[in-house]
Amino acid sequence: MGKLQQRLSQVQAQIRGFALSCDRDPTEIRLIAVSKTRPVSDIREAWKAGQEAFAENYLQDALQKIPVLQDCDIEWHFIGRIQSNKTRTIAENFSWVHTLASFKHARRLSAQRAESLPPLNVCIQMNLTGEQSKGGIAEKELRPLLEKLADLPHLHLRGLMTMPPAAASISQQHQLFAQLRRLRDDMNQQGHALDTLSMGMSGDMQAAICEGATMVRIGTAIFGSRT
Ligand SMILES: *Cc1c(COP(=O)(O)O)cnc(C)c1O
Repeated sequence: MGKLQQRLSQVQAQIRGFALSCDRDPTEIRLIAVSKTRPVSDIREAWKAGQEAFAENYLQDALQKIPVLQDCDIEWHFIGRIQSNKTRTIAENFSWVHTLASFKHARRLSAQRAESLPPLNVCIQMNLTGEQSKGGIAEKELRPLLEKLADLPHLHLRGLMTMPPAAASISQQHQLFAQLRRLRDDMNQQGHALDTLSMGMSGDMQAAICEGATMVRIGTAIFGSRT
């Protein structure tokens, strides 16, 4: 077994272990491999080992890789900051967007999504800590945004995404992820149908899984540290 394959199965085992340790069904949690900055050869190796969903932050970088990997039938997730002049490229090349944070971008993504493709799956990025360096909307902006999204035919609203500050303690990670879960539950009580909580990276996967993550976005733990 290659090193990458070994790390991938280690991460799979961790996800399973963390889920069982907090009484969750491990099959409710999907592993999204974050392949930003990684070469096509790494992605292909992980795909051959059974990994089907990959996430990219940098559009230019992603556009170099996606066509080369066409034969792999990969499900591509966009997790970078959205720029208005790039929404068409995102709508044309990805199945999921985890970082939606404005109605303007939502309207463009829906309008630019091809009729021949299934609706684009989207998560709203929440910025619950007010960190300037991070994208996402504040809690009070969520309800009005969700109401407007309902009218966009080529988007499928799936859930919420967030990231804790890099320096967050384990208990702060738990607090933040629990807050995202409660927000999701509140929205569903108000009639929405959000089935996704995109939370958990290499450094905070355990807290995220215990607080209800349904998608974890893991880079370093699979591919090694980024240089
Ligand atoms: C880079 C990145 C990840 C993966 O982080 P790791 O610490 O490498 O697991 C997850 N989500 C987003 C939005 C990222 O930018």
